[in-house]
Amino acid sequence: MYSFTSCTVNDCNTTALSGSDFCVLHLSDAANHIKALYETIRQQKTIKNINLAGVPLDGWILKQRQFFGCSFAGAQLNNIDWSDSVFRMCFFDFCTIKNAQFCRIDAQFCSFAGAAISDTTFIGSELVHNNFNGVHTVRCNFSNSSLYNTRFIKSQLAETDFIDCDLKKTFFLDISQTSVNWKFSNTQEAYFELTGADF
Ligand SMILES: [Zn+2]
Repeated sequence: MYSFTSCTVNDCNTTALSGSDFCVLHLSDAANHIKALYETIRQQKTIKNINLAGVPLDGWILKQRQFFGCSFAGAQLNNIDWSDSVFRMCFFDFCTIKNAQFCRIDAQFCSFAGAAISDTTFIGSELVHNNFNGVHTVRCNFSNSSLYNTRFIKSQLAETDFIDCDLKKTFFLDISQTSVNWKFSNTQEAYFELTGADF
């Protein structure tokens, strides 16, 4: 993640896509480049330091992969299946994620901060030490997951299920919620407001 180079266009501060000197906006044949990257990724089980920041992706199947230090920040991710994959230090900040499957994933130290996530499932996942601060979720499902030490600070949660989750040390400070289902989850071990006694 930290080795990403900048786009070579003057005054562009965006990171260059993997295998290119340019960011997605300045790459003239971005669609073909992204397609070629997909072909490469499809043949790999372990994907390290891939930068797909800002790209539009649709219909990719990325199941049973291991992602380390990858960036999808600001990407528009539609209909992607990431089920049974492992994520470490991956970035989905300010993504638009629609109709995705993150079933049974194992994610640690990842960030979805500021992402708009709709019609997406994270069922049965290990989501430990992740950042969902400022997310907007609509019709999402985190049920049967462990969310230990994951943060949803200032998030807006709508029609989203957290059924039978482990919410120990999960932070839901200053959230707004509409039709959120917390059934069978240990909400008493999560933080919904800070009190002096907790810290
Ligand atoms: Zn650029």
